[in-house]
Amino acid sequence: MTLALGCIADDYTGASDLANTLTRAGLRTVQTIGVPADDLALPAVDAVVVSLKSRSIEAGLAVSRSRAAETWLRGRGASHVLFKICSTFDSTDAGNIGPVMDALRADCGETAVLVTPAFPETGRTVYQGNLFVGAVPLNESPLKDHPLNPMHDSNLVRVLARQSKTQIGLVDLATVARGVNAVQARLIELAGKGIGAAIIDAVFDRDLETIGLVAAEHRLSVGASGIGLGLARALVSTGKVKPASASNEMGAVVGGPAACLAGSCSQATLQQIANAERAMPVLHLDPELIVAGKSEAERALAWARPRLADGPVLIASSATPEAVAAVQARHGRDAAGHAIEQAMADIAEGLVRAGVRRLVVAGGETSGAVVDRLKIPGFLVGVEIAAGVPVLRAVDAEKSGMLLALKSGNFGGAEFFTDALRLMR
Ligand code: ADP
Repeated sequence: MTLALGCIADDYTGASDLANTLTRAGLRTVQTIGVPADDLALPAVDAVVVSLKSRSIEAGLAVSRSRAAETWLRGRGASHVLFKICSTFDSTDAGNIGPVMDALRADCGETAVLVTPAFPETGRTVYQGNLFVGAVPLNESPLKDHPLNPMHDSNLVRVLARQSKTQIGLVDLATVARGVNAVQARLIELAGKGIGAAIIDAVFDRDLETIGLVAAEHRLSVGASGIGLGLARALVSTGKVKPASASNEMGAVVGGPAACLAGSCSQATLQQIANAERAMPVLHLDPELIVAGKSEAERALAWARPRLADGPVLIASSATPEAVAAVQARHGRDAAGHAIEQAMADIAEGLVRAGVRRLVVAGGETSGAVVDRLKIPGFLVGVEIAAGVPVLRAVDAEKSGMLLALKSGNFGGAEFFTDALRLMR
């Protein structure tokens, strides 16, 4: 298998977002959880997104993990690697965007790396090197108060220069608007001055398409799902990838027992659970019993097993903000959250042992705990159930007959659980 595109994402949800964007643009895409084993058997795909959790870890560790991912991707033929970062450029002066970019650049011998977090469809645009979040510059957006990576400077040329060993240049919007040749000429000019990376402006999707066409001829780029979209469109428009339709790529019908797990306490999920009560049996877990021990997970499995033959079931820990606050006040937010996530993972493991092959999970952290416990190395990305939430098919031999949907809290419409199961056949 020769990959047309390799991607390294610095967090899981960002990886899913990118994998979904690539799939919608016609690339057969697998998202892996961590750097895959050398012997992982993959279906024939155009792109692999390796999901790391490297956004906020120590820079040296982020570099070594990213390099391991790059080695794996290049070993599968990826001539271009996209280092996927957050569209709000989440980082600090210590990294990790600059140090990882520098290391990957040194590994592949790239002269001038194109860098842009622009993703116009989600309101991220870059002009004169300044990142805007909707109508306001980054440093006036809520990101100024982010608990891990407060962003106080919207000028990404300066932000990246503080993190990188190379000088950072700018390819401005006027140059992008003049097209591929103008951007290429500007990059050659910058490289001639010893500038190793450039923030490139993008305000509209057509700017991303220009950037994608230029980047596809390079070895390395850095950006969010927007540049991923540009790269995917470039690979399709230049005939390097024959576009696929996600619905045709999901393989055989899986069938069999189905279950839903909800650990998200978001408004959207609470409404989705209430609506699901009309379509399937729902069990509400007692968070106090979960924090106290294993018996609540065992009770849930004993409840679910005899029902699975009759249709899907839903098991939820989700509760109203007042109830959540009360549990957190008694046990601490992290301890309560962790205990409930692990109970959901116990339940997921038990359900799979009981024959469940179609599993819907609501909640970002909850999904992470479930996927880790089930030891699923990666997913083929399928059709979208709701914006940003695709059907996923596990890729390893043991679980390759398993479909999942992983939804973060606020995603999906009011009938999300039944919508998901309708598409997970
Ligand atoms: P979201 O995507 O909505 O943020 P997550 O799964 O990421 O959902 O986060 C929800 C967190 O709330 C998890 O840590 C989960 O274990 C925790 N949680 C779930 N149910 C309860 C509850 N009843 N009381 C307190 N915390 C809960």
